Amino acid sequence: MITTEKTSSIHDFMEQVKLKNPAQHDFHQAVHEVVESVYPFIDKHPRYKTAKILERIIEPDRIIIFRVCWEDDQGNIQINRGFRVQFSNAIGPYKGGLRFHPSVSLDTFKFLGFEQVFKNSLTTLPMGAAKGGSDFDPKGKSDNEVMRFCQAFMTELIRHIGKDTDVPAGDIGVGAREIGYLFGQHKRLTNRFTGILTGKSLEYGGSLIRKEATGYGCVFFVEEMLKNQGNSLDGKICTVSGSGNVAQYTTEKVIQLGGRVVTLSDSAGTIYDPEGVSIEKLEFVKDLKNVRRGRIKEYADKYGCTYIEGKTPWGVKCDVAFPSATQNELLLDDAKSLVSNGCIAVGEGANMPTEADAVKYFLSQGVLFGPAKAANAGGVAVSGLEMTQNSMRISWDRSDLEDRLKGIMQSIHSQCLEYSTDANGAPNYVDGANIAGFVKVAEAMLNYGIQ
Ligand code: NDP
Repeated sequence: MITTEKTSSIHDFMEQVKLKNPAQHDFHQAVHEVVESVYPFIDKHPRYKTAKILERIIEPDRIIIFRVCWEDDQGNIQINRGFRVQFSNAIGPYKGGLRFHPSVSLDTFKFLGFEQVFKNSLTTLPMGAAKGGSDFDPKGKSDNEVMRFCQAFMTELIRHIGKDTDVPAGDIGVGAREIGYLFGQHKRLTNRFTGILTGKSLEYGGSLIRKEATGYGCVFFVEEMLKNQGNSLDGKICTVSGSGNVAQYTTEKVIQLGGRVVTLSDSAGTIYDPEGVSIEKLEFVKDLKNVRRGRIKEYADKYGCTYIEGKTPWGVKCDVAFPSATQNELLLDDAKSLVSNGCIAVGEGANMPTEADAVKYFLSQGVLFGPAKAANAGGVAVSGLEMTQNSMRISWDRSDLEDRLKGIMQSIHSQCLEYSTDANGAPNYVDGANIAGFVKVAEAMLNYGIQ
């Protein structure tokens, strides 16, 4: 058993985490980052230590792993693995996305579920934390194959979710199409129309602004960091990685706030458009990625700009970087290159996109670093608002929801500032987010006694 009594240092604590969770490197990385922030805080607040909150908060409530069998278009039987890691329902029903990607493992969902605990706490809404998905790869599959997979996946997941139990959403590889198939199967099997998923289309209970929320929220958070230093996004050159949901709406909001996005990418390469992605070019990207499911290279072919095969955007000069594709996509050398090119702020749109030593480097250089838990919490925040609208059977309008999202991102920024330490003259938002997220969940856990 991992205990702070046995562990006199963060190093000892992490050694025990590694022993107990072998080969789960992403999970180790996520826990280490939180422990580094929270350990000194707990030392000053012994009630958390006595109740062993840190030891308990790193252990998921439960992990569900299941087989998903479906038939492809050729009539062959396909077997995938499904996961749901229900991490903590201390402050509300489990809430967190589903990811369909061939690279996922239990490690992926443990790291994502753990991060979600702190993120959901920061949103100020009553949401616990979970994450799940499958090693199914929607790329190259027909709509009918995706439908059959989603139906088979939901047929098993249904035992474990519910509007007051666990409310999944989308993530990488799970967009409006997949949510529709999943929701439809749940409705068919239960004969009930309830808000058991968020990210739904507007016709059947979805919320306005949900698809925009993570990207918009990330930009609002960065704008708050800059404002706190007497600066703004107006006129800033921005690099964005990815070209999926988060990247698209990050780009849209940056353009609206007067910035210029000069890169987008996918798993095959990066486009560099020094003139900037305009709203019209962004419409092309949305159609390319959401409808035609093509490669970002087509953008370079259409608009005659540079395509850098197999590379991420971090070698391109910018003022602000928005890593918005996937975990560990921004390494130490990338951080060095960004800083030497004059980058002053980073907003993590993706989950844990920056490697630990790259985060440390940014902080050592006084870069305003918005960690994912805080910066990309807008998506789950509007999911929380979708749940509220479903329960009340009403729909709020677009401007009302965007105002609420902005208010939540400002509140997250204030909470982070309240608990932030100093990072070479700039606020250390990593410590701020970890400690602020921890306190609310820890206080709830203290109320429940030993469980
Ligand atoms: P999408 O599936 O819409 O887009 C993902 C993008 O990232 C695509 O451009 C994809 O390229 C690229 N990508 C995926 N895997 C890799 C890889 N291994 N290497 C390089 N590029 C890769 O996902 P989202 O935009 O929804 O999610 C992006 C990130 O944001 C994830 O970390 C997710 O967890 C996080 N996030 C998303 C939220 C949301 O509301 N959607 C909420 C909070 C966080 P390709 O097309 O080639 O696969």
